[in-house]
Amino acid sequence: MSAARILVVDDELGIREGCRRVLTGEGYEVETAADGASGLEMFRAGWYDLILVDLRMPGLSGMELLAAMRESDPDAVAVVITAYASLDTAVEATKRGAYDYLAKPFTPDELSAVATRGLGHRNLLTEARKLREQRERDLLALAGEQSRLRTIIDCMADGLLVINRDRQVVLYNPAALRLLRQDQLPLGAQVSECVQSRELVEIIESAPQAGASTRTERELAIGPADDQTALRVTTARVIDAQGEGLGVVAVVRDVTALKEIERVKASFVNMVSHELRAPLSAVRGYLDVILDGFAENEPEKERKMLGRMRGRTDGLLALVEDLLTVSRLDQMRVCRTVAPVSLPEVVSEAVQFFAAEAQAHQVTLECSCARADLPAAEGKAPPEPGAAQLSVMADREEMRQVLSNLLSNAIKYNRPGGSVRVNLDTVGEHVRMAVSDTGVGILAEAIPNLGREFYRVKTPQTREVVGTGLGLSVVKRIVAAHHGRLETASEEGKGSTFTVLLPRLSLVQRAASGASAEGAA
Ligand code: ADP
Repeated sequence: MSAARILVVDDELGIREGCRRVLTGEGYEVETAADGASGLEMFRAGWYDLILVDLRMPGLSGMELLAAMRESDPDAVAVVITAYASLDTAVEATKRGAYDYLAKPFTPDELSAVATRGLGHRNLLTEARKLREQRERDLLALAGEQSRLRTIIDCMADGLLVINRDRQVVLYNPAALRLLRQDQLPLGAQVSECVQSRELVEIIESAPQAGASTRTERELAIGPADDQTALRVTTARVIDAQGEGLGVVAVVRDVTALKEIERVKASFVNMVSHELRAPLSAVRGYLDVILDGFAENEPEKERKMLGRMRGRTDGLLALVEDLLTVSRLDQMRVCRTVAPVSLPEVVSEAVQFFAAEAQAHQVTLECSCARADLPAAEGKAPPEPGAAQLSVMADREEMRQVLSNLLSNAIKYNRPGGSVRVNLDTVGEHVRMAVSDTGVGILAEAIPNLGREFYRVKTPQTREVVGTGLGLSVVKRIVAAHHGRLETASEEGKGSTFTVLLPRLSLVQRAASGASAEGAA
């Protein structure tokens, strides 16, 4: 350890040199100054553990020097040397920041003793300062750590809720509010009073007690039936070293997409077992009959069976085609040829195509297109010709597919003697194509689910109808890809209307020419 440094400021050479000799003999490093001004200069330029200051000096007095030193370094330790050891002088010097005083004349022992005390005090001050600085550094690091943790918690996609042992909410993140569909969760409030989902409250409150397994996983649904979020809640009881429960940490995860995948997977397996197995078994049965020679001498019977086999395999091919279409549309691997398409043409072709099927189901099929080629009102520009007004910018084959799926449903979910009608007109910026039927209709609660892959409404009326639950999802995807939308209205037992709204060709062309004119400008 290096020797303590002492500065002696006194105008008396004898005192200065006496102090130097005694204190150097004690092992200290000593420097001296002959007046207040040079003493202050040395103090500011160097580093001293103890300063001995004569109170009476010409120029800058000892008291003034003390005040200036304390200003530069509040931890400076000074001992004043005074010729008259009055109490008043000592008190005054202490007020100015002196630690102790030494009355002249003093003995070497007295000098040594006061130096030892002063330096001891200085050590204590230095230690205290170091501890203070360390604490400030620790607090700073802690604050940094806390803000880092807070940022991480706030950025989490999963919701986090921490509840103390008194069942009060003590921490949550923005994801928790979003997932629980709440605007706020007042800190300190009882979980049963501020969390709106009764199910979640129950999950949190029934988190396992200390000693038992400390983690559980449960699922719940939040929101109305047509807009639900599936949540998976993992609760963990926090326990201290003694095993006492401190509270519960709940992590809430949105598993809606996962649930949908699970549903699609289950529906797919279900669909495969019914829609694939049944026709394949039928085909296999006919093949057995033919190959085993049971229809050998009955060409008519054999021809019928072959015809049925063809019908079943056609159905299978259509199913595989639907599956591939959904997959292609999902992966955006569709090659579209987008061009002006006259919907009246597409409708009339489709109606002709489905005529035989409608007849087989004893359903009448008709279409009507709004005539827009009326004469212009006085003073106004003539309206666009009808065909152009009912045209859209689209892939013709996909438009045919949309209409085929809707017409096929309207016929197969109909009743003998029922009717199907396709209506084309314009509404605002859209061409509206509505396919209405007088069939079995759809349960109101099932309507929001239409268009989900493999979704089929199960009622006694529809149970016998062959289908895959893919037709409407193909329609929905194609319509969305053409910046349109699909609307469904239905009354159970009375019939349904599926309406496709697509941007009018004239508006798309106008927007495109506007954009190119802007580009040219
Ligand atoms: P699929 O007809 O192959 O089952 P879709 O995706 O075309 O599949 O239709 C999904 C479900 O919607 C059908 O199973 C049926 O329950 C219902 N649905 C569709 N169109 C109609 C309609 N016009 N009338 C009554 N129900 C319908």
